Amino acid sequence: MTLVIERKAKRRLVHSPATATRIATPTFTVKDVIAASVTLEPIICANIACPDPSSGNVVFNQGVGDACCEVCGEWQLDLPTEISGLDNHR
Ligand SMILES: [Zn+2]
Repeated sequence: MTLVIERKAKRRLVHSPATATRIATPTFTVKDVIAASVTLEPIICANIACPDPSSGNVVFNQGVGDACCEVCGEWQLDLPTEISGLDNHR
């Protein structure tokens, strides 16, 4: 006589719709791009004087390791704001 012991692993499917917060328009800063080591778009311009910071015209330059806003022409890491906390320029 053979005894077959079945172990059923019950997995609970937890649904938590409250935590599923949807962000309508995902945006990133140059810090996010550097942290992810990939180009995330759109990058928002960190220049507080930029006329259109969320225009999507901030282009990350892999060679320089910084992103330049085509609206105001500012390099993101050169901006005198909190975002320029990374001081790894060569
Ligand atoms: Zn700008």
